[in-house]
Parts: sequence; C-alpha cells; structure tokens
Amino acid sequence: MDHSVLDIDGIAVSPDHYIDGRRVAGEESFELFSPIDQRLLGRVSEGSSAQVDAAVRAAQQAFPAWAALGAAGRKPCLDRFAEEIGRRADDFCRLESRDAGVLLSRMRHGVVPRAMLNLTWFAQHALTLQDRVIETAQAQHQVRHDPAGVVAIITPWNAPLMLSTWKLGPALASGNTCVLKPPEWAPLTCSLLADAAHAAGLPPGVLNVVQGSGAGTGARLVSDERLARISFTGSVPTARRIAQAAGAHLVPCSLELGGKSAFIVLEDADIDGAAATAALMYRNAGQVCLAGTRLLVHERVADRFVAALRARVERLVVGDPRDEATEVGPIIHPRQVERVQGFVDRAVAGGAELLWGGARHDFGAQYLQPTLLTGLHQDDEIVQSEVFGPVLTLQTFAGDDEAVALANGTDYGLGGICYGETAHATALAQQVRTGFIWINSFGIRDLAAPFGGIKRSGIGREGGDWSFEFFCDVKDIVLPKAPFHASFAHR
Ligand code: NAD
Repeated sequence: MDHSVLDIDGIAVSPDHYIDGRRVAGEESFELFSPIDQRLLGRVSEGSSAQVDAAVRAAQQAFPAWAALGAAGRKPCLDRFAEEIGRRADDFCRLESRDAGVLLSRMRHGVVPRAMLNLTWFAQHALTLQDRVIETAQAQHQVRHDPAGVVAIITPWNAPLMLSTWKLGPALASGNTCVLKPPEWAPLTCSLLADAAHAAGLPPGVLNVVQGSGAGTGARLVSDERLARISFTGSVPTARRIAQAAGAHLVPCSLELGGKSAFIVLEDADIDGAAATAALMYRNAGQVCLAGTRLLVHERVADRFVAALRARVERLVVGDPRDEATEVGPIIHPRQVERVQGFVDRAVAGGAELLWGGARHDFGAQYLQPTLLTGLHQDDEIVQSEVFGPVLTLQTFAGDDEAVALANGTDYGLGGICYGETAHATALAQQVRTGFIWINSFGIRDLAAPFGGIKRSGIGREGGDWSFEFFCDVKDIVLPKAPFHASFAHR
C-alpha cells in the first residue's frame, strides 16, 4: 500500500491511520481542503471495518501491559509524549491553523501549551489515584481505580489537538489504551499526535488513530462491542447516534456537546469590561462550544453596552488565521458557511434587527462578518439553536428574575458568563442551570476542575478526578475487621 506523506506548507504529515505502532493506508480516502483559501491539502484515509477492527484489537492487546505499568510507569512515557509535542510545537501550530483555521496566535499561546499540559498534568494526577481507604466499624474498604480497557475517543474540528489530548491525557494516564477518531474536516494535527506518540516510544497499540468520516469510520468504531468507554465531543445529533450504538453493548459514554450559553450583563456591571469580553465571543469565528453567544443585558445599560461592544467589533481584525494579528478567522467548511448564513437570513426575514454584520466578509469565501442580532423572541430559532459562527444575539431584561428565565430558556446548559458586582453576579449565577459559569471573566479553565454540560449540552463530566471517575472502573476490596462468620441472617 502507498504510504504517502502530505507536504503542508513544508510540514510532512501522514494522511494514513496509525494502528499498532505502524502507518496503515486506507483502501478509500477523502479530499481535505483548507478553510483559509479552499486549497486542496490532499487525500486522507477512510477507516474501513477491517481497519477499525485492527485498531481496537491492537488496543486490546496492548492493554494488559500498559495497565500493569501503573501510573508511575506510564508517567515518563506521557511526559515524553508531551515533550515531543513541544519539540514540534511550530508544526502543530501551523498545521492546525492551515487545516482547521484556528488562529495561529491562539495555537502558540493557548492550544499547544495546553495540549502538553493535558498529558503531563493527568500523568501526574494519576499518581494520586492509588488505593483510597475507607475505614468503617466493620471493614476496611480499599477503593481502587482500575483502568477500564479500550477507550474510543471522538473529537470535533473546532479544537482537534486541544480536545483530543484533553481526553487522551486522563485515558492513557489511568492505564487505558485508546483508539482516536479525529474530525474529518480537520484531521491532520491528530496524525502528528501519532507521530509524537511514536517518537516518544509509546508501546504499539497504546494509542491508535483511525482517520475517516463520522458516518463511516466513526459509526463503525462506536458500535464495537469490545470498547470499555466512549468519550465524545461534538454535536447533539451525533451524540444521539453514538449513545444509541453504545447502548447496544451498554458501553458508558461521556458526551460533551454544544452550547447556547448566556452572557448576562447586570446593571451594576463594568460595562467596558463586559464589552471587551463579549468581543472575544467572535474569536475562532465563533466556533467555540463554550462561547456566551446570547447577550442578556439589563435594559438600563443596554445602549452603553452596545456602543462599547460596537467600538471593539469595528476594530476586530478578520483575516488569515496564520497572521498573528488576526482575531477572527475562517469558517471551517463551505457547508458550515451556508448553515451559519442560513440562521442569520432566517432571523432577519423573521423580523430580527441586524445591529452589525450579517453577510460574507470581503476577505474570502469562508469568512463571515461578526454579527449581532436583536429584536428577538425567546422561541426564535436563532435564540434556541447553536449557530457555531460569529453570530451573537442580544436580548434585554428588566430584573434578575427575567435574566435567569431568559438564561435558562433553552435546551442547552454548557457554560455561561455573568458580569456584575461580584456578590450580585454570583448569587444570580447560582440560579442559572448550566455546567459552569464565569463571573466577570471568561475562559478560565483549570484541569483540576469539572467540565461538561447539562440538558442537551451533555452527559457526564471530565477534568480532574471526574476524568478518572469516567475512564476507570472503581473497585472496592472489602477487608472485614473481625472474623467473618457465614450466616443466613447476616446481611
Ligand atoms: P459532529 O458531531 O458533527 O462531529 C464530531 C465528531 O463526531 C467528528 O469526529 C465526526 O466525524 C464524528 N461523528 C459524526 N457522526 C458520527 C457517528 N455516527 N458515529 C461516530 N462518530 C461520528 O460535531 P462537529 O460539527 O465536528 O463539532 C461541532 C460541535 O461540537 C458543536 O456542536 C460544538 O458545540 C461541539 N463542541 C462541544 C465541545 C464541548 O466541550 N462541549 C467542545 C467543542 C465542540
């Protein structure tokens, strides 16, 4: 088989799978285009049933030895894995920018350091996962976290490197072996991850990468009965399909899904600070699950807030994500451009008022203007649906109860932002039904903290101990404190 290597702006990257420590070409492949300029980047392998089977088998075979290494034995491997990412940091940054349109500046300063930390932090944290002991009058309970087995990891295109390592870190650190299915619209940095794992000397089969479409390769993977866990980040419709497939074999799933998070601005908020943060919602062209895309602003400060936000939006630099000055890059795919534009057009046709944006940006075919819509009703499509583009909505409220009702008035519950006097904002945040909410800030993520959504935004939590709760089988070894006498009367 042809083991071709793509040359992407001078970076050599394999378009093939990585199974059992070796590159494996697909019998079929698909075309991959850059969102920056629609350039054909090459053809990427599509994972067949036999290749998915081989990847799961390799992971299964590698599992006993990897699990037996213990957290201390696995830590040096994962530290080396992180070092390899660091050694090729520039390649990872430029490749994901080219492939997924992620801002180069964000790759350099945010994503790559975080990807490394995702491996080293969880490798370190796994050392604390030795036996925990619960003493009762009757017994000593030695509670262990045993690795579960083969884990399928499925990630979306908006943050492939960040999200893949976010799951790989704890899954591998706790002794599982993995099959990663990268997003087909941005698969290349996950291929580079396989190279980094290989160079770091991860034993064959511990990490396998199978490229391909969701409906093809992804669906094949999640219906494999040998899986012990499925960790998925992506959209609600896909989550439903995955949960159904997993249900057939009762495989536990962690589902990190979409959002429609509220950005609440109270009357006592720092309006300039709130506006500066609101402008960040356009970053990555709004393709950020945790963005606060529904601006809910107290009616007495709405005009001031809109003026302050407008001033910032007018200065936003839309353009090539590889330019360090760019703040708003492209939309991932022509289909996604159509989808986002469709939401805006339908909202305007339905009577929404366009405060700015609303159309394609001159910079190129896959660039949209930062957009703000108002004059909306809570049940409008644009208020209820995740748009995943540079589109914000603005609604006003007269008091806290109304703010909470609007914030809670969608099927989603991922994140949230609340600007206001700290005690006031914190009290209000307690009433917002969501997985997490930032007070007078945005985007502070700590690996020790839980992450995930409620309602349609997901099932389960990852992060810190929550990742290990998901990726491990908890076992209680019970040692009685007094001699045990078998009796039918005994509980
Ligand atoms: P998507 O659901 O279309 O695809 C995500 C992944 O699932 C891709 O790798 C895809 O190939 C795969 N997939 C698709 N169908 C499948 C199937 N039947 N079986 C198995 N795998 C399948 O999502 P997307 O468009 O790539 O990403 C955008 C979505 O991800 C948005 O809804 C966004 O909010 C969400 N997201 C959530 C978080 C979070 O942490 N909660 C983070 C980033 C993105």
